[in-house]
Formats: sequence, structure tokens, C-alpha cells
Amino acid sequence: MAKLTVHDINLQGMRVLTRVDYNVPMAQQGGTMAINDDTRIRATLPTLQAMIKKGAKIILAAHLGRPKGVREPSMSLRPVADKLAELIDQPVAFCEQCVGDSVDQAVDKLEDGGLLLLENVRYHSEEVDNDPTFAEQLAAVADAYVNDAFGAAHRAHASTAGVAKVIDGRGGPCAAGLLMERELRFLGDELADPDRPFVVILGGAKVSDKIKVIDRLLEKADTILIGGAMAYTFMLAKGFSVGKSLVETNEVDTARAALDKASERNVQFLIPNDHIVATLVATDQLNNKGKPVTELKEHRASDSNNISEDVSGVDIGPETVAKFSEVISGAKTILWNGPMGIFEDSRFAKGTFGMAKTVSEATQNGAKSIIGGGDSVKALNMAGLDDQVTFMSTGGGASLEFLEGKELPGVASLTDK
Ligand code: ADP
Ligand code: MG
Repeated sequence: MAKLTVHDINLQGMRVLTRVDYNVPMAQQGGTMAINDDTRIRATLPTLQAMIKKGAKIILAAHLGRPKGVREPSMSLRPVADKLAELIDQPVAFCEQCVGDSVDQAVDKLEDGGLLLLENVRYHSEEVDNDPTFAEQLAAVADAYVNDAFGAAHRAHASTAGVAKVIDGRGGPCAAGLLMERELRFLGDELADPDRPFVVILGGAKVSDKIKVIDRLLEKADTILIGGAMAYTFMLAKGFSVGKSLVETNEVDTARAALDKASERNVQFLIPNDHIVATLVATDQLNNKGKPVTELKEHRASDSNNISEDVSGVDIGPETVAKFSEVISGAKTILWNGPMGIFEDSRFAKGTFGMAKTVSEATQNGAKSIIGGGDSVKALNMAGLDDQVTFMSTGGGASLEFLEGKELPGVASLTDK
């Protein structure tokens, strides 16, 4: 069901508790914490600018890391307030608490169109417990609620779900931010009745992580292309040998069931027919957990369906790249989740980057391309093609759960249109 968005409501003079995803990567720099990547902060700017224009008093709530209910100084959101002020070119007040008297006072000082960032909500264990009293305390300073944190929407926490219940209970509007709205549109509405052919590319490490998504997409897609380590479990299900590749032997039956469902439903289901393989060799070094470090050496293309005994599959091979690319070129809608190989190592990134190139070309030719999954987004950024696709999701875990068809607590708690 469609949810209210910030565009639908009058916010003039209203105190709006706004949940954002400011869980940004940080590192120590000269004794203070510095932000390494401000993508998530930038992603909220359209919502904030729209709310400023509407004259809202904006109270931002967010989490950073996992402080587990204690005030961990390295996980303070203070550096984010400074960064946001710089990006939005207006002052951002910061409150060292997220509930209580000091928040009341800071909110009292807010002017229409003003911004206030509250301290890390996870400094209180009640946040993760979705404690109703804590949700009441968060809601105490707000007339309305906006959720723009798609990346945290799969969690039923006080600031993502509980607080909306309180504000909604008082008759206050609970709306999606513009980033949230885009996520729901591309991962939801656009895929509900996609233009065909609808081609799904799935990869990554594990079948078990993605089987629910595969199962659901088997009811929608015209073609499913499988790469990554996940492909080897499907190869086992088809009776091929996989050598020392990463596999989940306890998922072979699940993979077989998916293959059967594909043939029943006439869904074209392709697995790689050639591979890049490498030899796993032990070194005499230990990692920081005391485990022996191994290296992948002597990589080469193996043009047979079967992977020989002594090697591991690390990427899809050139023939598979060509075959998958041909299918993708004919697509009208493309959904991609999960890399085709160990793309973090440039020797094994050709498959993933090959798909990235083909998907971006198909997009320039009019196809709609939607990318979900944290590592897939990272791979597109590495390939420099992040602006050549229709949509990249900002929510790794949340996008996967949404594609599984699960109701996300952070979305369910918003007001229906
Ligand atoms: P996403 O975050 O896009 O959903 P996943 O987390 O499921 O993707 O999978 C990404 C990981 O899968 C990457 O770290 C990558 O190195 C790994 N991977 C892909 N192919 C292989 C392979 N053949 N062998 C081992 N690991 C692989
Ligand atoms: Mg991942």
C-alpha cells in the first residue's frame, strides 16, 4: 500500500522527528573521529531540503555503529552534524542526548527550517529493544515523524518503528522521506509489474542468504543468471564437480528445488559454463585470529563445466560473461544482486565488471536497471559505473528482506495514503 511522503503533508512550524541513516564509516584521525565516506549524509539532502522549504523544525535521529547501550565516544554523531552543516550550507545544532530535558531545550530553540541532530540513539539499549517508554520519550518533542532510513527499516527499533506508533496514536502524520520513497518505488512498484524481458542477475557468496529472493523472483523473472560462489552449489545440484570451490553442501536440495521450479514455470535459469579457477596455497603466516593465511595463485580460465579437483572457482569465465551479456542486452528490466566473483581482488573482478559494463550499456539503450546489495553497489562504484544505472539501493540487508517480500517494520509503521 502506498505510504504518505513528505510531499503530501504540511510541515510548516511542525516539530518533525526524522530518522536518517547516518551510520557512516569513520576512522581515528589525529585524536578525533573523521568521516571516510559521506554518501549516506548526501543521500538525505533532498528530503531535508524539501522539509526546510516547508518550514519544518527538523529533529534528526540516527544510530552509528553498535555501542550496545553505552556512551562509546568513538561512536558519537557529533562529526556528522559538522559534515551535514557543511553539505547543506546551514547550521546544524547538536544535542549530546537523544531524550530528556536537554533535547526539549534544544528543540525549543529550533526555528522553522532549522536542523538539530540528536546523539546516537543506540547509546540506549532501549533503542534496539524497541522499548515503548523510550519510544514515548523520543516522541515527546515531535508533532510528526519522517523515516528516510531505508537501510535501517528492516529493524523494529524504537526510532524506526516504536516512535511512529506513538506519533500515529496521537493522530500525527508518519511519512516516508524522499530516499525511502525512491527505494520503495524501485524495489517495490517498479518490480511488481516489470517491463519484459525481466532479467535477474544473482551472485555473491551463499545460496542460503538469497534463496528466499530466488524463490520469489522465480515467480516474476523471465531469466535468472547465477554467478558468484552461489553458482557452485547449483552446479553440484546439476551433477557437475566443483573442486575446492566455496559451496554449501546442505543447500544442494534447495538449489535443486529452485531448478525444478524454474523449469516448471518456464523461467530460463542459467549457471556459468566456464570459470576462472585458482589454486589455494597455504602460506606460513597467521592472521590476527591465529588462523593460517592462504593465497589464491596460478589463476586461469577453465573452459569446462566441471572444475577440477585441485582448484577453486573464483569468477565466471569469459564465455559466461559473453553469454550473460547477450541475455542482458535484450532485457527491458534488470535486477542485480551479488557479485559474480571475488571482485575485491582485481584478478577475479572481470566477471563482475563485465556485468557492470553490460548493465550500464543496456541502461543507456533504455532498460531499467536496479542494483541491490552492499557488495554489488561497492563493485559498481569500483567500476566507476555507479551513475550509469537507473537505481542503486542504499540498504544492503533491508533491500534483500524487501525483495524477499517481507514487510519491513520501518515501512509498515508509516501512515497509509
Ligand atoms: P551483496 O552484498 O551484493 O548482496 P554478497 O554479500 O552476497 O553480495 O556476496 C559478496 C561476496 O561474495 C564478496 O565478498 C565476494 O568476494 C564473494 N564471492 C563472490 N564470488 C565468490 C567465489 N567464487 N568464491 C568466494 N567468494 C565469492
Ligand atoms: Mg554483502
